[in-house]
Amino acid sequence: MEITNIRTAVIGGGPSGYCAAIACARATGRGSVMILEKQPRTGRKLLATGNGRCNISNENVSPEHYHGDRVIAESVLRSFSVSDMKDFFGSLGVLLRSDQEGRIYPCSNQAVTILDGLKRECSALGVIERCSFMPRSIKKDKNGFLITSDDAQVHCQRLVLAAGSKAAPQLGADGSGYALLKGLNIRCSELFPALCPVSTAEKYKALKGVRAKGRVTLLSDGRPVAGTEGEIQFTDGGISGICVFELSRKVNGFFLDGKVDGAICKRIQIAADVMSGIGFNELCGYLEGCRRVFYNDKAGELLSGALNVQLSRVIAKACALSDKSCGELGSRDIKQLAACAKKLIFTPDRMGEFGSAQVCAGGVGSDEIDPHTLMSRKHKGLFVCGELLDVDGDCGGFNLHFAVGSGLMAGRSASAGQIGLHY
Ligand SMILES: Cc1cc2nc3c(=O)[nH]c(=O)nc-3n(C[C@H](O)[C@H](O)[C@H](O)COP(=O)(O)OP(=O)(O)OC[C@H]3O[C@@H](n4cnc5c(N)ncnc54)[C@H](O)[C@@H]3O)c2cc1C
Repeated sequence: MEITNIRTAVIGGGPSGYCAAIACARATGRGSVMILEKQPRTGRKLLATGNGRCNISNENVSPEHYHGDRVIAESVLRSFSVSDMKDFFGSLGVLLRSDQEGRIYPCSNQAVTILDGLKRECSALGVIERCSFMPRSIKKDKNGFLITSDDAQVHCQRLVLAAGSKAAPQLGADGSGYALLKGLNIRCSELFPALCPVSTAEKYKALKGVRAKGRVTLLSDGRPVAGTEGEIQFTDGGISGICVFELSRKVNGFFLDGKVDGAICKRIQIAADVMSGIGFNELCGYLEGCRRVFYNDKAGELLSGALNVQLSRVIAKACALSDKSCGELGSRDIKQLAACAKKLIFTPDRMGEFGSAQVCAGGVGSDEIDPHTLMSRKHKGLFVCGELLDVDGDCGGFNLHFAVGSGLMAGRSASAGQIGLHY
């Protein structure tokens, strides 16, 4: 079997792998770094990010927006600020810009600009790219690591694992990086999907495709523990939208260990305020007026002047008022409808799925990895970066910021001459 020798191999051609390759090759020179990618082409997930626009970072990057292993998150963020992100992409000839909410995108509004920038720099640095290379095993020897695929072997002195997670398998994320870690006896914390839709016990088929601006609040045994505003998207099996994604990590964490924020909890619910722009009393006054306008219509129409009609009907049904006409509604009924529009309850009924998740929570933590270098504590010369690490961020560019920052950190560390001395 053909054996290729290289100083540094990077497994995974996503944002973290490319950044590791660039940081390393900038220090160690042409022909010293090779990217091994299992798919026929690199960067597939990157191209799908931000609906094809790639929300690469956020002006508000700070540790509060990250979950999992805080030691690693803080160390990477200390080494890589938002202005470092702009400088890094500036060095690749890629201009970034922020929107009003602080989300940072390439000026071109195209994810391909980011991927092309990374590829161009790799090519200029003489980084070798090898696609359709599926590593079957990694063996450590006294000079480094031997990576074996079905038909080839690569030997390297330094190895960076940047194989991403299990989230979004339709983009090729099969989680095979975790098997490689396991083969090297590197432990991972429990993996679960984050930033995904929430399946609920309430299955409102009529709401499929309906959207409403509002606020969602996660209730742990009735107590509010988290909440966000945005566009709530209703599906036939639950709720979705960025604001719901933001709650999904805690929801999935509950299905994993029965806890929310570390506290045991018996029941979780999501309260949707689909009339968040208007207070309860004002809403009651508005509905009193509507009662006259919709006098002969069914109660389900009462909120249809303010909401999608399907949502208006679901609210009346949830209040068991569908059979009444608007003219028959009393003040108590009006208050009940207003209260329901301000607090429509959804009960999460199961763990979300990796297939519809943007990221994976859990992974390799600081018990296995030195947070300052991202080098394995067990295997000198082995580095881990990107989503394989036990760090996941909120929606809004935080995950790609971490992927780029951790990739650059791992690549810089891997470029160091004498590993033992450097650390
Ligand atoms: C639909 C969608 C939209 C998103 N939008 C955003 C966004 O706008 N902003 C944001 O911050 N985050 C976003 N994310 C999250 C973000 O894409 C990831 O956090 C980020 O891509 C992780 O980078 P990575 O390099 O660690 O892994 P990946 O991007 O997954 O790259 C890993 C690479 O390794 C390859 N690979 C996997 N296993 C192996 C193996 N065994 N051998 C060789 N190669 C292997 C994969 O094929 C892939 O090319 C989104 C995610 C999804 C699914």
